Amino acid sequence: MIFEGLSDKLQNAFGKLKSKGKLSEKDVKDAMREVKLALLEADVNFKVVKEFIKKVQERCVGQEVMQSLTPGQHVIKIVNEELTALMGDVQSKIMISSKPPTVIMMVGLQGAGKTTTSGKLGGYLKKQGKKPLLVACDVYRPAAIKQLQVVGEKLDIPVFSMGDKENPVNIAKAGFEHAKANSNDIVIIDTAGRLHVDELLMDELKNIKAEVKPHEILLTVDAMTGQDAVNVAESFNEALGIDGVVLTKLDGDTRGGAALSIRAVTNKPIKFIGMGEKLDDIEPFHPDRMASRILG
Ligand code: GDP
Repeated sequence: MIFEGLSDKLQNAFGKLKSKGKLSEKDVKDAMREVKLALLEADVNFKVVKEFIKKVQERCVGQEVMQSLTPGQHVIKIVNEELTALMGDVQSKIMISSKPPTVIMMVGLQGAGKTTTSGKLGGYLKKQGKKPLLVACDVYRPAAIKQLQVVGEKLDIPVFSMGDKENPVNIAKAGFEHAKANSNDIVIIDTAGRLHVDELLMDELKNIKAEVKPHEILLTVDAMTGQDAVNVAESFNEALGIDGVVLTKLDGDTRGGAALSIRAVTNKPIKFIGMGEKLDDIEPFHPDRMASRILG
């Protein structure tokens, strides 16, 4: 389970505080040292950890905590609040245009779960009464188009494709026109991925962005890759500009470093999480619920 190790270690650190009637600055410092180690072991970005600990420590040695009758509880409350803030405070929704169709461009590296997530998102929006269209722009990876078609069939969502010989920019544009003509109010563009961030890929994505002007660019990253996922998010955001992140494979991530670092490093929110391989294993990301989960 995600945050397993982190939860255990934090509970351990706070357990000692909870048994005390009054706290000294040293008590707080000792606890913060443990929290810091626990976060680093969970693969949270080093700079993020440093800032976080500084902020929490400052608040915890304040009068309110020191004079509190239940200082341990107070410290936990502060950590909860700061963890929530770290992940973005409020739930970030996707931007639905008042002038349909809303165009959502899905980007990410190969294997991150982009095609699956395109389908999952379509299914999620369909359940909310929308009429999504999936557009197959990954013309390089063998079987990517077929994969999207299979996903579309399972969800009963139409898939627009022009095969793998057409330029992805033209496919995206034609997909948008197709959506307008067929009163699809959401267009989800599944773009190509690569094994690594490279210029060619970014140029193609920039071209699609310039032509189609998506309302949302959502980056899919694999939570299990930890700080690599954070670096990928930073690169995509710098090169292309993203609106949010979908963090996939959280069901297999025991540490949680990416979940805790992405927002702070990129300043872009996690909007959805992938919790399994099934097409309904997608959830909106709630920072406050995630923080409570960490604190057990
Ligand atoms: P793409 O190359 O980025 O389009 O990646 P795919 O959509 O083909 O997904 C790669 C693999 O990750 C597939 O086996 C998916 O079933 C799997 N996958 C995607 N999202 C999740 C998730 O949230 N949890 C788990 N466990 N597997 C996922």
